[in-house]
Amino acid sequence: MREGHLPHMSLFRTLTAMALLTAASVATACTDTDRDNGTEPERGASPHAAVPKLPAYPAEALPCPPAGYLCSRLDPGDTLVVARWPDHTTELRVLVPLPPHPDPSEAARRRDAVVRGLLAWQDTPLRLVIVHDDPGDGVDIRVRWTDHMDGDQVGRVQTTLELRNGEARYQVQLFELLSPPVREGSPAERIRERLRRTAAHEMGHALGLGHSDRPEDIMYPEDRSAEPSARDYRTLAELYQLPPGSRLVLPPSP
Ligand SMILES: [Zn+2]
Repeated sequence: MREGHLPHMSLFRTLTAMALLTAASVATACTDTDRDNGTEPERGASPHAAVPKLPAYPAEALPCPPAGYLCSRLDPGDTLVVARWPDHTTELRVLVPLPPHPDPSEAARRRDAVVRGLLAWQDTPLRLVIVHDDPGDGVDIRVRWTDHMDGDQVGRVQTTLELRNGEARYQVQLFELLSPPVREGSPAERIRERLRRTAAHEMGHALGLGHSDRPEDIMYPEDRSAEPSARDYRTLAELYQLPPGSRLVLPPSP
């Protein structure tokens, strides 16, 4: 997510291009920032080569659901691969460590703000379990802190979907938030509020959502909305009714 700038279209083109891959893995990088030079997603098949047939998944492209914004960034005729957590995943453990900060109580407040943002997606449909200390394994998403991002970038997420032997494997490779360094007179409350909103937006990506085309949705690429909207939740519900790895197509205009 970035603050208050016109959305760059390059990411949407990237998503479209990736959707056209027929290889065994699909990577999505929502850097929410310098999208012209953003992290290049992995491309192409895994070393185990492309999967020519995936019997567990519909071979035919499915029509885009009409209500939400899953396909709002597609052009007619384009397709999009459904990338989300598989059905057997019911719970996500999300590690949220303390951000580095000279004031421990402010560090805790920043973390609390992020947790509130993440939990905006609680039970929609996945159960989110927030973990503060690294248990070593058994963590599905690791929030990473950085004190610097290029330009006005404030958060970024990278995900991958692998399809192998009919099994979908979805992973969040990167979930990074900007915790800005302390400066004289920096508005702590505003920073925490932005962290909360950014965490909510990035968690939407981690669940599999792309960007919305309306400012009232939390998944709009600019920081405009304070909370996920009914349309955000509806779009996520649509996503989780579609088989991971299936393709959505926006019918060509008549
Ligand atoms: Zn985004």
